[in-house]
Amino acid sequence: MGAHILSGAVIETRTLDALIPDWRERDAPLYTPAGPDHFWLLTSRRAVALPLPPPLSNHGNYVVSLGNVCRWLAAEAEALGAEIFAGFAGAEVLHNPDGSVRGVATGDMGVGRDGLPRANFQSGVALIGRQTLFAEGCRGSLAQRVMMRFDLRADCDPQTYGLGFKELWDIDPARHAAGTVIHTVGWPLPSDTYGGSFLYHLENNQVAVGFVVGLDYRNPHLDPFAEFQRFKTHPVLRPTFAGGRRVAYGARTLSEGGFQSIPKLTFPGGLLIGDAAGFLNVPKLKGIHTAMQSGMLAAEAVFEAVTTGAPEAVSFSARIRASRLHDELRKVRNIRPAFRLGLWAGMAHAALETYILRGRAPWTLSQHADHSVLRKAVRCPKIVYPKPDGEVSFDRQSSIYLSGTNHEEDQPVHLRLLNPAVPIAVNLALYDAPEQRYCPAGVFEIVSDGGRPRLQINAVNCVHCKACDIKDPTRNIVWTVPEGGGGPNYPNL
Ligand SMILES: Cc1cc2nc3c(=O)[nH]c(=O)nc-3n(C[C@H](O)[C@H](O)[C@H](O)COP(=O)(O)OP(=O)(O)OC[C@H]3O[C@@H](n4cnc5c(N)ncnc54)[C@H](O)[C@@H]3O)c2cc1C
Ligand code: SF4
Repeated sequence: MGAHILSGAVIETRTLDALIPDWRERDAPLYTPAGPDHFWLLTSRRAVALPLPPPLSNHGNYVVSLGNVCRWLAAEAEALGAEIFAGFAGAEVLHNPDGSVRGVATGDMGVGRDGLPRANFQSGVALIGRQTLFAEGCRGSLAQRVMMRFDLRADCDPQTYGLGFKELWDIDPARHAAGTVIHTVGWPLPSDTYGGSFLYHLENNQVAVGFVVGLDYRNPHLDPFAEFQRFKTHPVLRPTFAGGRRVAYGARTLSEGGFQSIPKLTFPGGLLIGDAAGFLNVPKLKGIHTAMQSGMLAAEAVFEAVTTGAPEAVSFSARIRASRLHDELRKVRNIRPAFRLGLWAGMAHAALETYILRGRAPWTLSQHADHSVLRKAVRCPKIVYPKPDGEVSFDRQSSIYLSGTNHEEDQPVHLRLLNPAVPIAVNLALYDAPEQRYCPAGVFEIVSDGGRPRLQINAVNCVHCKACDIKDPTRNIVWTVPEGGGGPNYPNL
């Protein structure tokens, strides 16, 4: 449980208060109250303190490891009789003859209960339910399929995404101040690229440092991983890590489309919740409380559907519309899309929306699909990144090692190419093979095969961030769940 979970994370506790009011007495792993808050604009040498925008205020929140919170929640759920099959990936959506969703089939687990390899084991286990809730987080592979099958995105904007990196560090106690929360914008990203960082001081002299890059960046030479590594070398940030030790690394995409990208939520036999539906509040960089709230509202709607024999839990959408979650996302709906105009215009617009219009703007800005905005490589400047110094900045290989990712070697590659010719004929020829740079785990490499370029897929390194499924310029890469429950093994990200 929690081994694939990656988040900041500062948690807003109002949903947890509603779900488990006595979480404090039940030893919930929320140990570090958040505060003080800082919001900095970085130039290459300086950090300029900016007024804290209200969405970024963390008064009353807690700095947590979401993996630990998930493990605690799992124990609470099991105590109530829930059965959890940790390590099983849902590989396929099952349908009834009338087309409604019947459940999911898991993939091959690779090893049997006796721990021995199951070389000839082909089929998975069917998990059947009257209602199936898809809660795969950002860009869920099964959620993508049900959205297509039931045309759930017909009346909403495309989803837009960010790619988030995170490292956990043990730092010098003299440099640690539990609860401190720092967010930055600006350097090292160019001003036409959306993104920013977070630095959260947890308990036990640990800090979580992370960096998010909007996947609607246009320059195919941009390397989000290298931007993150460069960010840590900033003269104001470097001292935090001096004498410290990096203990974990991972990456995960975030759904950033917000209000206007929320699809139809229900379909016969199931519904979408959490980040799979796109309930993240981007200006807050928070989706834990909204994911939990959507789960609670889904439970009420499912209970109603099951007890009345209705095939679709239609009341879920109405419950969402009547909830605080809906108001919260509606109010901030224009902030993220305005950053398409660049950092300065985006900040000015965010100030207008936040302080003057207070979320009541009569307009709604639209979202676009991230893969569609990539420019041709020849039209964009190349970016030269500094070599990692091995102290605060690192290479991909040592980072992948810290993600603990593992996949059985002899399984079919879980990253499928719809057309095997496209990586060279299109991606390399027109975009200088951007998958070599946006993949945080170095899965995609252009190698020379007798003098001819060829895409090599090192699927074993994949950390399941889903960026390739989103950013590939022709949507030629399809991420599917691997066999054997493989993937990252995050300790407490
Ligand atoms: C870098 C970063 C920083 C963030 N910081 C914060 C923060 O500070 N505060 C905050 O509130 N939010 C933050 N968020 C957002 C928050 O983490 C998410 O909104 C939240 O975790 C969404 O919850 P979820 O349950 O919908 O999805 P997830 O937490 O992503 O969980 C989905 C789970 O389903 C599993 N899964 C996916 N597909 C399958 C399948 N087919 N079969 C079986 N299992 C599957 C995944 O492995 C994962 O364990 C951050 C996100 C990122 C990436
Ligand atoms: S292969 Fe795709 S999902 Fe896996 S780490 Fe790379 S970009 Fe992420």
